Amino acid sequence: MATIEVFTGPMFSGKTTGLLDRVHYFRGAGVPVLLVKHASDMRYDAGSTVTTHSGIALACHPAHDVTDIAILTQNNPDAKVVAIDEVQFFEGDTAGWAVLARSVGISVIVAGLDRESSGKTFGLMGELLAQADVVHKLKTGCKCGLLAHQTRRRPDAPEGMVGGSERYESVCWGCYYRTGV
Ligand SMILES: [Zn+2]
Repeated sequence: MATIEVFTGPMFSGKTTGLLDRVHYFRGAGVPVLLVKHASDMRYDAGSTVTTHSGIALACHPAHDVTDIAILTQNNPDAKVVAIDEVQFFEGDTAGWAVLARSVGISVIVAGLDRESSGKTFGLMGELLAQADVVHKLKTGCKCGLLAHQTRRRPDAPEGMVGGSERYESVCWGCYYRTGV
């Protein structure tokens, strides 16, 4: 039975690790998995691997938009699972594509940020979370010791949107609303 499964939460909460654990599980069980990530995410490489913040990497197909995902899926008809990292960056009706994939027996597993650092819903994530059958809302630790629910830009962050710990940190809501903490 095909499902839509979402690993979400702030940065550094283990979303990609959760996704890659699923990929390992299905491949170990002999189920072909198509692994995709957004082509603009070039933090660790030229777009040919999905890499966790702790450095674990798997080869993947880069995609620019939902049309690329649909073409990759058509070109890999054996794949019973499509796993997508950094799904929040995809524009177009990617949530609608996931619903369509589920309807023809393809499971969709994604990892992505639920909210921007401003606190707003990140792109398609609202629709995707509504359509999901399984949601893992992951947490990490805030520097104050409480659970971190939200990503924010560091006060001294360099310009640019895509980034790692040099630009972003995950904090609890108390620290989020106390600027300079
Ligand atoms: Zn805190």
